[in-house]
Amino acid sequence: MAEFQQSRESSNHGKEGQSEVPPRIRREDLKEGEVLCSYCTAKCCRYFALGIDAPTKWNDFDNMRWYMMHGPVCIFVDDGCWFLMVIADCQHLLPDQRCGAYETRPQICRVYTTDNCEYDEDGVYDQYFETPEQLWEYAHAVMPPRPRRTVGEPVHLPLLTGI
Ligand code: SF4
Ligand code: SF4
Repeated sequence: MAEFQQSRESSNHGKEGQSEVPPRIRREDLKEGEVLCSYCTAKCCRYFALGIDAPTKWNDFDNMRWYMMHGPVCIFVDDGCWFLMVIADCQHLLPDQRCGAYETRPQICRVYTTDNCEYDEDGVYDQYFETPEQLWEYAHAVMPPRPRRTVGEPVHLPLLTGI
């Protein structure tokens, strides 16, 4: 399953002269030779998202709820695909939005381009769950009544598969 959404073109990083809060500009207003990243707050270096299987069982929802209990972790759904998103700045991101590991950055960062990056995306998804409680409420709305766990039934910790 695993699909990565992540970041970063061979562009602004490693270059000098950025302010900490870059001014906004529309893509279409970029001048020749300018790089879109120079106007961005490094949105693509501040999270990663993994494709996950759509939940079909109570246990699936329960596992997702558990993921979300571990900090800034969200679940979103777009075009029928489910994603787990971890909101966390890359440890190499510098205060001025540049990459502090430009020469050795991962391949996923090297191949990412501004062509269809999230620079001007609105961050709106078909469904977005910010808290475990929201997801659990949704599960109660769409799932049949939850079966009771019998005494002595083993409890297994969930594992992400297919990464
Ligand atoms: S989101 Fe786009 S414009 Fe912003 S840093 Fe990433 S690649 Fe550059
Ligand atoms: S390694 Fe550099 S380009 Fe890649 S996510 Fe981190 S700061 Fe961004």
